[in-house]
Amino acid sequence: MNKISQLIWKDVTGENESNRVSFIVRINSLLMCFYFLVFMVVFSIYGRFPTVGVSFLCFCAFAFSVYLTYRDHNGFALGIYAVVTILWMIGFVVVWGWECSIQHFVFVLLLLVFVGNYASESAKLLMSFGVLAVRTILYFIHVTMPPEEDIAYSISLLFQIINILTIFCSMVVILAIFTRDKMETEAKLSQYNKKLKAMSEHDPLTKLPNRRSVISRTISNIMNGSCPNGVCIAIGDIDFFKKVNDTYGHEAGDEVLKQLAVVCSEYMSSHGVAARWGGEEFVFVFLNENLDQAGMEANELLSRVRNLTVKWNDIEIKVTMTIGVADVNTFTNGAVTEGEIDDRINEAVSAADKKLYMGKANGRNTVVV
Ligand code: GH3
Ligand code: MG
Ligand code: MG
Repeated sequence: MNKISQLIWKDVTGENESNRVSFIVRINSLLMCFYFLVFMVVFSIYGRFPTVGVSFLCFCAFAFSVYLTYRDHNGFALGIYAVVTILWMIGFVVVWGWECSIQHFVFVLLLLVFVGNYASESAKLLMSFGVLAVRTILYFIHVTMPPEEDIAYSISLLFQIINILTIFCSMVVILAIFTRDKMETEAKLSQYNKKLKAMSEHDPLTKLPNRRSVISRTISNIMNGSCPNGVCIAIGDIDFFKKVNDTYGHEAGDEVLKQLAVVCSEYMSSHGVAARWGGEEFVFVFLNENLDQAGMEANELLSRVRNLTVKWNDIEIKVTMTIGVADVNTFTNGAVTEGEIDDRINEAVSAADKKLYMGKANGRNTVVV
């Protein structure tokens, strides 16, 4: 059973692909193979061997259609499906009449037109008119020509049961696959969107929020009024970081950045946000804190950085940082719009940057407020 299921699903279960069309055409053609097998048995029982031959030919055509779906020729497979079904319907109405419900196969064709191929909208619309034309021709045959064979009510009922069951199964299969595929696609899309959002907001090396994300978080915190005591921004730059890279290698430098990021984000989690500004620079946003508080906390953060020992291939690396702190002047200047707050944040970043360079000029490993 497992093997049969694997064979049916073959090539249509790729992680990032939706091969609904292959599967819909394949399973419908398989259903039609089964349908003609049943007809071959029924006609053999009644001794209608020419009709057994016709059913066998139709069976072969649908088996070929199944084969084509494995060769990625779904359009061709669907074409065979449509042509053989239409010819069979016409032949059926001509020989046995309207009562056997063969004409309802047009609904299967209509569903296949819309969900069983990747044609353009206008082409699908055109094909649906083709299906309507087939349905009209069938009705025209029915009203103008009496059936060639006058079959007994029991046989007509048997034909009707076989036809209706096959049509019902085909439609259920098409709709079930379509619905399942749509839901899976939506779930995948939402997962990808979440992944993309996380990627666009975080630095891949340190996993800290990136520059864009920290600024937008700061703006929303200011705008929603959750920082009545003020907001301060600090820029921290690792001292002589180039030396770390030059002495121990770039990978050791990356490890320092990663471990430093952990220390900073742990400390900042109760004060605001730590983010990677770029290169060996970090930004710290102190939410709902004035400049004095932010300055004290930046000093505490610096002492934690000094205490960090990064172990890398049996060597121990220690670093220091120089930090410049400035406050975001949103309150005194009465900024109210997002754009105005963004301007104030940029001003605070420039001020923090200037203080950082003062700290560098004065010997590094310090906080300048
Ligand atoms: P200063 O005290 O004046 O800041 O000296 P510095 O050496 O830290 O400053 P400089 O700007 O001369 O060098 C910064 C170095 O940071 C150079 C660059 O290779 C390194 N760097 C930037 N981004 C990364 C990174 O993602 N990984 C590693 N390993 N190094 C990085
Ligand atoms: Mg730098
Ligand atoms: Mg530096």
